[in-house]
Amino acid sequence: MIRARKRFGQHFLEPVWVDKVIKAIAPAPDQAFIEIGPGPGALTRPLTQRAKSVTAYEIDRDLAAALVEEAISNLTVVEGDFLKTASPESLASKPCRVVGNLPYNVASPIMFRLIELHAAGVPLVDATLMLQREVADRLVAPPGSKEYGVLSILIGHAADVDTVLKLPAGAFRPPPKVLSSLVRLRFRAPTPPVQDLKFFRWMVQAVFTRRRKTLANALLALDGRIGPPFPRPAEILATAGLDGSRRPETLSIAEFASLADIYTALHIAVL
Ligand code: SAM
Repeated sequence: MIRARKRFGQHFLEPVWVDKVIKAIAPAPDQAFIEIGPGPGALTRPLTQRAKSVTAYEIDRDLAAALVEEAISNLTVVEGDFLKTASPESLASKPCRVVGNLPYNVASPIMFRLIELHAAGVPLVDATLMLQREVADRLVAPPGSKEYGVLSILIGHAADVDTVLKLPAGAFRPPPKVLSSLVRLRFRAPTPPVQDLKFFRWMVQAVFTRRRKTLANALLALDGRIGPPFPRPAEILATAGLDGSRRPETLSIAEFASLADIYTALHIAVL
């Protein structure tokens, strides 16, 4: 019996749910997979049996070593933190799918890293990820809803997102205190395209730290963090055709994209 380590967010999937998750992933014999956090290998083994190859990133040294010992011919185990070890240079140049029953405390940074890797040219096709239910709900939230925010916009800009399975706490050992959802991110070109992806992502995060303010005040609060020149929010909003009295969480992804492009066209730098 493997003892789950809390600091690594370890909640291992129960066998009946492994079958359902593998079915939802639907691996094919010609496909290459990256798995984030294989743990004791509940998903890893069936994946290696159904797919061409699996590269699994595991931070827990003991679990990584145990998987290496199994000597599965089409499995490569990378011991370490996915956030530190996965780079565009180290990843496959051929189309690749991603799976992960993610540690909930680093699920958002891992998703942001995946969209960054995709934007940097790594041919990631999709990612089937186990997430805390609240986080999954934020990914699919429409503008104006209370779950809509940075995650909905930045991930929704880079991928189509679907919830494919909902799981109770008892699907894991030990059971987490939260419910879970399995989501699929299908990566695509950012839609709509933006002139400067880095600025767009920075601006969305900066505006949402002022979620309670009006859009005009949220833009005003960017003063001191961007420029020179620092244009008046009223001018930017007029160019974008946006009403400054709206709240940031009511703006669609396309509206955020056009706002970011107006700043970019003015050659405004982040300080
Ligand atoms: N895939 C297994 C399963 O479904 O039973 C384990 C899932 S468990 C929720 C998450 C796994 O991710 C653990 O094995 C943990 O050690 C590993 N992990 C946590 N943080 C990680 C990171 N930053 N990079 C790679 N693996 C990580």
